[in-house]
Amino acid sequence: MAFFARTFRFDYRRKMDQLRPTLVKGGAGIGANATVVCCNTLGRYCFIGAGTVVTKNVPDYALVVGNPGHQIGWMCECGERLTDDLNCLTCAKSYEKTEIGLHRSEKTRGKINQPLLSRGE
Ligand SMILES: [Zn+2]
Repeated sequence: MAFFARTFRFDYRRKMDQLRPTLVKGGAGIGANATVVCCNTLGRYCFIGAGTVVTKNVPDYALVVGNPGHQIGWMCECGERLTDDLNCLTCAKSYEKTEIGLHRSEKTRGKINQPLLSRGE
């Protein structure tokens, strides 16, 4: 993972006032060797694929891959990819679109996958 945090060249010590913030919000996941260009924000619970170059702000819960990074879907808080109708098949959470990405809905729907292992009950 790399954060590019400068917009200037050479003698950085005299130009510390030119540093620009890069914000990573809670729950965000960043894959190996991903690069985040300065001044961008990674939204809550977004997921950045390995090797992705992030060149713009990433919405909450967005799944972003590629160079330059582009959104290919949405992610759940549990780390699973959401269906097209914004439901998680693993934990049954559902989401609604907002201006900044997704917002988790209070109601749960969808089918929860059966656990792989029995708990001995
Ligand atoms: Zn989930």
